[in-house]
Amino acid sequence: MATIKRTEISSLGEFGLIDRLTQGLSLQNASSMLGPGDDAAILQPANTQVVTTDILVEGIHFDLVYTPLKHLGYKSVIVNLSDVYAMNAIPKQILVSIAISNRFSVEAVDEIYDGIKLACEKYQVDLVGGDTTASPKGLIINVVAIGEQHKDHIVRRSTANEGDILCVSGDLGGAYMGLQMLQREKQVFLNAPEANVELEGNDYIVGRQLKPEARKDIIEFFEAENIIPTSMIDISDGLSSEILHLCKQSNMGCQLNEAGVPIANETYNKALEFGIDPINCALSGGEDYELLFTIDKKDADKINHHPDISVIGEMLDANLGVKLYTKGGNYHDIISLGWDGLKDE
Ligand code: ADP
Ligand code: MG
Repeated sequence: MATIKRTEISSLGEFGLIDRLTQGLSLQNASSMLGPGDDAAILQPANTQVVTTDILVEGIHFDLVYTPLKHLGYKSVIVNLSDVYAMNAIPKQILVSIAISNRFSVEAVDEIYDGIKLACEKYQVDLVGGDTTASPKGLIINVVAIGEQHKDHIVRRSTANEGDILCVSGDLGGAYMGLQMLQREKQVFLNAPEANVELEGNDYIVGRQLKPEARKDIIEFFEAENIIPTSMIDISDGLSSEILHLCKQSNMGCQLNEAGVPIANETYNKALEFGIDPINCALSGGEDYELLFTIDKKDADKINHHPDISVIGEMLDANLGVKLYTKGGNYHDIISLGWDGLKDE
């Protein structure tokens, strides 16, 4: 039987580890003048920059019982790129800071960085710096992402107008159902380690949870079609919560049509199996990393034929409130339950 190699981080030391993690990095973007190695990275942007950061804490944002380290590294980059795309900007650089306990080996850190580097390659982003430190117990990963866009093309949450069409990319609720599956199988495993963990047939939803993608393709489509959304936000906390953000910051009301909300078959069926109304997975489940945006009516024809963009509603006067129009023909106020609200059902 092959034994898994375990090198203690202490045997490399902090600088040895940083060297190992950052060796062989090449810079792909013109604005990245200097990467890791000096006191700071040097950037020479040709355009306006957007900057964002997200922190992932073991036990809060991820559970290593079912999260492969490479996926974790990948996802830690994706969640930040998604925020940059949600500004209609193109991510160019990231910085990665990790706090790690001696529970983890050098090989474990390598796996995290394999995922980080894979995301960098796929999305053409340069890893230009970070910080590395010890932690008493858990693992913490913080990523900063920097993007560029002409200032007139940057899209905020606060600029939707009455009559604009509300749209979403991809499908919703899958990551939430994937998480439900992983948590259920973890419980089965903890209760009876000899039992078979059954994730087969759930590839789509488990993949949505463990290895999300950011919607680079949608931003490229906007550029190609000369569309500048009137407002945009990425869906990290569930559709309800993000719609409320758009409406509040734009001082708008809205009608969301339940019939238009895209839910994949696998998500739909798994929700029913768990006794959850599928629409609630989309409304309150998190981590889909799709884009929610509004466009002017004049651009409607441009998106009609896009196979991965759904029209889900319309922006209205603020006095009309933020409503869900159900398949049964009723109106409900949209409220934000967030993750915990859904779990209690
Ligand atoms: P300082 O003590 O000045 O903070 P460090 O020794 O922490 O310097 O970092 C040295 C260089 O290595 C810097 O350029 C920093 O950005 C880079 N670096 C440190 N940790 C990481 C990491 N985890 N990933 C990428 N680059 C890193
Ligand atoms: Mg440092």
